[in-house]
Amino acid sequence: MKILIVEDEQKTGDYLRQGLAESGFVTELATTGIDGLHLAQTGNFDLLVLDVMLPGIDGWQILRRLRQVGKETPVLFLTARDQVDDRVKGLELGADDYLVKPFAFSELLARVRSLLRRGRASIEPAVLRAADLELDLLRRRVSRSGSRIELTGKEFSLLELLLRRQGEVLPRAMIASQVWDINFDSDTNIIDVAIRRLRAKVDDPFEPKLIRTVRGLGYVLEAPADLAE
Ligand code: CA
Repeated sequence: MKILIVEDEQKTGDYLRQGLAESGFVTELATTGIDGLHLAQTGNFDLLVLDVMLPGIDGWQILRRLRQVGKETPVLFLTARDQVDDRVKGLELGADDYLVKPFAFSELLARVRSLLRRGRASIEPAVLRAADLELDLLRRRVSRSGSRIELTGKEFSLLELLLRRQGEVLPRAMIASQVWDINFDSDTNIIDVAIRRLRAKVDDPFEPKLIRTVRGLGYVLEAPADLAE
């Protein structure tokens, strides 16, 4: 899940970025309205967190322009306490939710998850499956053969990606950019280590094995029925 944060106050921007990254999201931060609008139009984001007061183009204008060109990415606005008309104005423009500054990170995270759920509800199932492995996107739970499996945030994101692209060989560079938001450097074994840890939890104690290494290419997750095809 990819989130764009548009926030000109560096401290707030860094705080949001770090917190969301630690919660397993891939984030991008823009510090001006112009950069924010450009990224929102060109990037493939699942959610926008928009500060209202921004230099250049403000949060309202970003939202208005996005909706004009048919971009329906959900938007969470960050507004100051004294901007009394903000909520009404935002609603008219088609904002999805608000948070008044200052806010607790836990509150932001709850709103973010709820907006992402709402956005997803109409287009895809809440549970991703392969054989007896289940990943519940709403409850952020994973189980296999009915037993609950505890994953870290990154392991969850990695498994979610593999399940969403079932049957496709995913190159390490693609996994690196989607799950870690980094450019893949062939000197690093971060992906292989993460895959090994994930396998130890979701594959090693079970049959059949679902995650396969494709030498020289990357990794693929597939259920045996797919293998037979
Ligand atoms: Ca601001």
